Amino acid sequence: MGDNTNLASIGHWIGGKLTGIDGSRRGDVYNPATGKITGQVALGTSADVDAAVQAARAAFPAWADTPPIRRARVMFRFLELLNAHKDELARAITLEHGKVFTDAQGEVTRGIEIVEFACGIPQLLKSDFTDQVSTGIDNWTLRQPLGVVAGVTPFNFPAMVPLWMFPLAIAAGNCFILKPSPIDPSASLMLADLLKQAGLPDGVFNVVQGDKEAVDAILVHPDIKAVSFVGSTPIANYIYETGARHGKRVQALGGAKNHMVVMPDADLEQVADALIGAGYGSAGERCMAISVGVLVGDVGDRLIPVLAERARALKIRNGLDLEAEMGPIVHAAALERITGYIEQGVKEGATLVVDGRNFDASTTGEGCEGGFWLGGTLFDNVTPDMRIYQEEIFGPVLSCVRVDTFADAVDLINRHQYANGVSLYTRDGGIAREFGRRIEVGMVGVNVPIPVPMAWHGFGGWKASLFGDCHAYGEEGVRFYTRQKSIMQRWPDSIAKGAEFVMPTAK
Ligand code: NAD
Repeated sequence: MGDNTNLASIGHWIGGKLTGIDGSRRGDVYNPATGKITGQVALGTSADVDAAVQAARAAFPAWADTPPIRRARVMFRFLELLNAHKDELARAITLEHGKVFTDAQGEVTRGIEIVEFACGIPQLLKSDFTDQVSTGIDNWTLRQPLGVVAGVTPFNFPAMVPLWMFPLAIAAGNCFILKPSPIDPSASLMLADLLKQAGLPDGVFNVVQGDKEAVDAILVHPDIKAVSFVGSTPIANYIYETGARHGKRVQALGGAKNHMVVMPDADLEQVADALIGAGYGSAGERCMAISVGVLVGDVGDRLIPVLAERARALKIRNGLDLEAEMGPIVHAAALERITGYIEQGVKEGATLVVDGRNFDASTTGEGCEGGFWLGGTLFDNVTPDMRIYQEEIFGPVLSCVRVDTFADAVDLINRHQYANGVSLYTRDGGIAREFGRRIEVGMVGVNVPIPVPMAWHGFGGWKASLFGDCHAYGEEGVRFYTRQKSIMQRWPDSIAKGAEFVMPTAK
């Protein structure tokens, strides 16, 4: 692969130190805007995972015993540092992921909100207490940390998705091992460094870079008690089954196909803004991106020409250009997969209104000719039997399905395998209420295109979009990273003499 001298070496973070930059397994890291390799990331082995587990195990007893208010103070300092270094993080994300800089800033902000929530851990861990459950006996519950827990995260939010996980896990008293996506690994090390600066003891947060080999080592390691995963559905399913088989608590968030229903009474200018932003923002590489417009009644005839014009006018450039609305696709293989779907849609008989494959990359910026570029793509007359409707494309491809009635729209969506997010545009309160109650999807927006719940509400889809019981972050996150213990207590002066052989009841 030629001259490696100027490439960044991206290693692991174990026990508060960078390691593994000289290991033999490595992967290339690209700048998707230029198509050039910019770094090499270590690909962890089971020995690396074990080293991280040993560091985390060693740190756990003292960290778990640290009063929650003191753990919260570390989070408060981490919060200040994140705010101070937000733009640096956003820039690193743009350089490896490709998303536009302002979008990367937004990603970091949404992650910071979870840290703000985690700062409230003393309140979140406050438990209940019942005085006098029986004469002289009190009963209360505790939520205690699990021990060493791990997170496996996707390429599309290299800072935000890890931040969905580790602030709450750590604040609750656990030690954490993060296995980031090898596609954009640098943000994880920046977060590790900021945690250290915030005063987090070594070993409480660790990063093992890598691919399937590191993930498999996590899934079978006897000292890892829980795994949080976010990524595609086949891998989420695999993580859930394998982790559970090895006795772990698992939450595994999977892929998506998010619909937006447009009712004939909706404001079509607002709808066009929403569909263009939610369909093509971050090049459609968001788990909450809208990939299907469900156009009710005569909406299609009125909306498609407006969408087509807007899709053709997207400013697609190097993400560092502050005017850019959409950046490149994350890497060459993803570009190939997405263009394959466009071909497939044409073969299946959908109407290709705007073909992103015709996009002229010479307008993307200096030195960007070799980048992974694709224009915004728009299909009309997509039907439920087509693969481009059924499968997650995860690119800037918006498919429109035409239906006659609101009931048809709800029925269509409820039959889909994915159920992450959904949105409805209407002015009718009755329809909106009915939609919220009838739709079988985990996160619902009414006149909100991307209804990502705030930090204290919890994030998660239904059906093939989530395996497990607990959603990510919010109080569900605290529940996931702790286990409940009930303590019942009395003191010798209230213990009656004599053995009791009947089921104890309140006296
Ligand atoms: P991915 O499933 O390919 O990878 C996710 C993680 O799993 C990475 O850390 C990767 O290294 C690891 N991995 C990949 N293949 C593996 C294997 N065979 N065995 C074990 N581990 C493996 O996902 P991606 O391409 O990085 O991210 C995009 C996907 O993530 C999309 O499907 C998107 O919808 C989904 N996603 C979902 C949510 C959500 O909240 N539901 C959020 C973000 C992204």
